[in-house]
Amino acid sequence: MPSPGHKKILIVEDEQDILQLIKLYLEKEGFRTLLATTGLDGLQKAKQEKPDLVILDLMLPEIDGLEVCKRLRSAPDTAMLPIIMLTAKAEESDTIIGLELGADDYVTKPFSPKTLVARVKALFRRLERKPDESPTQYRYGDLVMDLARHEVTVKNTEVPLTAKEFGLLEHLLRNPGRVLTRDILLSTVWGYDYYGTTRTVDVHVRRLKQKLPSLNEAIISVKSLGYKLKEPC
Ligand code: CA
Repeated sequence: MPSPGHKKILIVEDEQDILQLIKLYLEKEGFRTLLATTGLDGLQKAKQEKPDLVILDLMLPEIDGLEVCKRLRSAPDTAMLPIIMLTAKAEESDTIIGLELGADDYVTKPFSPKTLVARVKALFRRLERKPDESPTQYRYGDLVMDLARHEVTVKNTEVPLTAKEFGLLEHLLRNPGRVLTRDILLSTVWGYDYYGTTRTVDVHVRRLKQKLPSLNEAIISVKSLGYKLKEPC
């Protein structure tokens, strides 16, 4: 894995203690950090400073984390920016909304900084998987997934996916006809150290189908188990 030294992480958090703690741990691991304490400040820095990843708190002054997430996803410059949300247990419904709005992962407060750093690394690892470890392209009907370019096209038109949606689709395309349990998908796409719930998988599959209507029928829900991609005809 390349050294994290060139990776820039934007932390958007209004609580100074938490902000400084995250900064400390990330810098100890060699990441560079950018700090923002309000939603608007975060949006501006995401646009101007082009970070490689954003850690986004949910409860923020001015505009909250959900709105920030929505705006990042809808702007072409930041649509693909990996986002990890910080949420509190009591905000579970907001967490689901956050995932629906395009956050790639979330960490529940109170969290250990080590866990957060592990999630950051897992997300980068996924994004940086070397193309020679697997085929460089998958095809499914009109859909082409190009791993080297990290790009999905349908009839030659690019469909922007978040990091987790991309990982999920990649895993389905690599295992056509196989039932993939929610737990397997969680551990392979989200990482073995992921503590999220299996509901996370459902939310992402639903969003993937919305973005790729041609896969609507092809991705089959296997009752109480998980998902399966129909073998191509
Ligand atoms: Ca906060």
